Amino acid sequence: MRLGEAQAPHPGRIYLMATASFPLTLALWYRGLHMGTVVDMHVHTIVGSMDSDISPKRLGEQAQAVGLTGIALTEHLHQWPADEVEHFRQEYRLFVFNAREWSTDMGHVVTLGLPRDVRGIHRARDLRAACDDYGAYFVICHPFRYFPGPSSLLFGHRRDQQSMPIEELAEHPVFSLADAIEVLNGGCIERENTLALDVARRLGKPQTAGSDAHMPLEVGRYATVFEKDLESEEDMLGELRAGRFRPGRRGMLAGQYEVLAETEAVAEK
Ligand SMILES: [Zn+2]
Ligand SMILES: [Zn+2]
Repeated sequence: MRLGEAQAPHPGRIYLMATASFPLTLALWYRGLHMGTVVDMHVHTIVGSMDSDISPKRLGEQAQAVGLTGIALTEHLHQWPADEVEHFRQEYRLFVFNAREWSTDMGHVVTLGLPRDVRGIHRARDLRAACDDYGAYFVICHPFRYFPGPSSLLFGHRRDQQSMPIEELAEHPVFSLADAIEVLNGGCIERENTLALDVARRLGKPQTAGSDAHMPLEVGRYATVFEKDLESEEDMLGELRAGRFRPGRRGMLAGQYEVLAETEAVAEK
């Protein structure tokens, strides 16, 4: 038994604690009336990503152990076959969105809701157009990974990265293409996530969170907390469009996730 497990009255359920910057009323509202769905919005497995070490079994077990109630599969190469997703849903009783992560000319993008046969897109603008055609959702992921530096996917070509003010960073065209910005990514360092959060707040863009897990124990470090109990991909797309979700991170107790408050910093406690 892990530390804290005994204190959680219902292990596996969601407990959002009130902190100084997280209003008590909102905490109770989440906790008492709407349990919602806690979705790790960025996960890679061996089914569709060469660089992942996570089998479906380990994903299901780890998700349950940390208290997630949903997963968005964001494979690099192939989406999961529909029957495999269904089997996984039933076996682990988790909400699952079969999504995808794309490498584009403007960084990495997770799309939710594009048909399986849409392939071979390399330009972010074309991906945006496809999302518009199909009513899919576009999340720009880890926009400041490796920033500042030559490996930064969005700003690597700029020699003056270090001195670019936040207003100028926020003007990168990918942000106007995006429906939401991933502000907590488990593969990023704190400074990189902070910049993403600053840009999202400046632009008033919705914010998502995901572990970007490639190893089992990374699953669930960050997750997006939806107000509603999600039942289908359509359901989640509706909630995404309505903006009824917040970025969150694992709390101290088993099954507990804390929502990042409006003005709270990314810094770990
Ligand atoms: Zn990525
Ligand atoms: Zn990824």
